[in-house]
Amino acid sequence: MRNDETILRTAEQTEKAAAAIRNAKYCTAFTGAGISVESGIPPFRGENGIWNNYNPVVLDLGFFYQNPVESWTAIKEIFYDFFGTARPNAAHILLAEMEREGLLKVLITQNIDNLHYEAGSREIVEYHGNSRNLVCPRCGARRQAEPEILSSIPPKCSCGGVWKPDFVFFGESIPYDAMQISEKAAGKTDCMILIGTTGEVYPAAMIPREAAERGATIIEINPVPSLYTNEITDIFIQTGAAQAGMALQRALFSLDPGK
Ligand code: ZN
Repeated sequence: MRNDETILRTAEQTEKAAAAIRNAKYCTAFTGAGISVESGIPPFRGENGIWNNYNPVVLDLGFFYQNPVESWTAIKEIFYDFFGTARPNAAHILLAEMEREGLLKVLITQNIDNLHYEAGSREIVEYHGNSRNLVCPRCGARRQAEPEILSSIPPKCSCGGVWKPDFVFFGESIPYDAMQISEKAAGKTDCMILIGTTGEVYPAAMIPREAAERGATIIEINPVPSLYTNEITDIFIQTGAAQAGMALQRALFSLDPGK
């Protein structure tokens, strides 16, 4: 139960965050699974996580090559049938609007659900790749994951290779460009907004720590404290992503002249 004191503190932290964002020269954002929970995408781990219903081995690179039909059956259900129905929430929309208004330079996401892209963000570093595109490991071809190509399992490239979603499987390394751009952004940013990420997945978890080490103001939005909260966070907005997104939207863009 949220009491008056909690609400007051959240409002105060939101105002502080808005001021830090306005004053920043190079504001960045770093998002994780928590930003998409209110869009209907459950996290992979935990009580209602996806891995309660599926075996994570379907995303193991070696297993995928050996058992393309079994892997693709699960991949299609999880990432295309189910994720495909999710829509961006107020937090995704806030970050897209901040980019359009010049208040956000780079958005680094660990998510592969495509919701930042759908919300209108374009300067996105997809640290773990994305589910929007497919790559052919045999000939290197790329294409969008459209329904007709996914109607046969496993979907095959014209060269005979099996299409693979363009996200990072277990046993696969982080895309080189994504790592480079993220490190550069962490070195340059003076304000980083963390949304829905708890700091447990490496090497991604290092990015905010690097930014903090360089003196960036760290704004954290999470419903419960994370590994970052007591370690590097300067401004903690303790609430869900969508609610914080709406509050920051008002604080940053409200046209109310009385404000
Ligand atoms: Zn091919």
